[in-house]
Amino acid sequence: MDTLAEAERLFTQLVAWRRDLHRHPELGFQERRTASLVARTLRELGYAVQEGVAHTGVVGVLENGAGTVVMNRVDMDALPIQEANDVPYASQVPGVMHACGHDAHVALGLGVATVMSQHREAWRGTLKLVFQPGEEGMNGAEVMVNEGVLEHPRPTAMLATHMWNDLPLGVVAATPGPMMAAAEEWEAVITGHGGHAAAPEQTVDPIATAALLVTALQTIVSRNVSPLDTAVVTVGMLRSGDTFNVIPDSAELQGTVRTFDPAVRETVVRRLRELVSGTAQMMGAQASLRLHSLTPAVRNDPQITALVQQVIRDLWGPDALRQDVRTMGSEDAAYFLREIPGCYLLVGSAPQESTAPPHHNPHFDIQERAMVNAVAVVTETLCRLLPPDQPPQ
Ligand SMILES: [Zn+2]
Ligand SMILES: [Zn+2]
Repeated sequence: MDTLAEAERLFTQLVAWRRDLHRHPELGFQERRTASLVARTLRELGYAVQEGVAHTGVVGVLENGAGTVVMNRVDMDALPIQEANDVPYASQVPGVMHACGHDAHVALGLGVATVMSQHREAWRGTLKLVFQPGEEGMNGAEVMVNEGVLEHPRPTAMLATHMWNDLPLGVVAATPGPMMAAAEEWEAVITGHGGHAAAPEQTVDPIATAALLVTALQTIVSRNVSPLDTAVVTVGMLRSGDTFNVIPDSAELQGTVRTFDPAVRETVVRRLRELVSGTAQMMGAQASLRLHSLTPAVRNDPQITALVQQVIRDLWGPDALRQDVRTMGSEDAAYFLREIPGCYLLVGSAPQESTAPPHHNPHFDIQERAMVNAVAVVTETLCRLLPPDQPPQ
């Protein structure tokens, strides 16, 4: 099979699917219209379809002879953003927009489903297509894993793909090892003792304590983490007081921690706890800390990533491949990749001559040809993971 030609032939259909979904975006766990389009299309292509998985997810399975099981995952949800683009396919839902490219992901998932079902001579085994709801901060992948999506049949390898506006059209990134960070969310409350702004000696000032804490937290990355390791500690919210002449009772801070390595994560979290309680104690205040793990790190399997890299080189030549793209952003595909070895790839979707609006921006849009590239690289990799001449299992 000429994968590039097959993907190219689908271009008009990919654009039609993507624009239809772009006009009708749905928030996480509400992807009902999207899911019914997916289920209908998969059934027409001959897949066994399961709907209502993790509320609004869809799983399609195509058996094509004895062999291994390989999974492809795409996400489907939109964001609570008012679209600012003036395009014919702009969102028709006020305050909701596909501003991360998941509309294109659904289209590429259906594109892959189409080529794989029309070219069963090019592969053998079982293909499992997972259309996941609620990626944007909702951990839909974790819900799917808990509902048994990775069983019956259990895949031995998987792929997941994101349109990527930090890379130009024509470039595809497949980075071995950790490539998206583990994320935690934390919240600290400092309780002092309020009073008159002109009589600070009668108070325990939570604002002065919070200010010291924010400064102290900067030493975690600079003094406790090795310069050769990677971590982020950000204070994203600091709230206290109501007026100029009152020292308030308490201050509240919220932030996030991002790490690649579990040992680094442990160090950062330990120091966060120590600095919150130590700074409060030093100032005579009380402090509490609540820490919540959002997602593990996305870790790409070296062997499957090497295969994806070879596919990229074979399809477009060595200049199309990037193997060093990492981000401290997080992605709930990590819940799948923690159990099944795989590769999370980033497909360049920015214009070649200029920069593109970033993901989650009201002006976000993609170069739609990126969908052709995504279908080609995913389909070709799936065929090589499911070779037609593999020995029976
Ligand atoms: Zn997003
Ligand atoms: Zn996304």
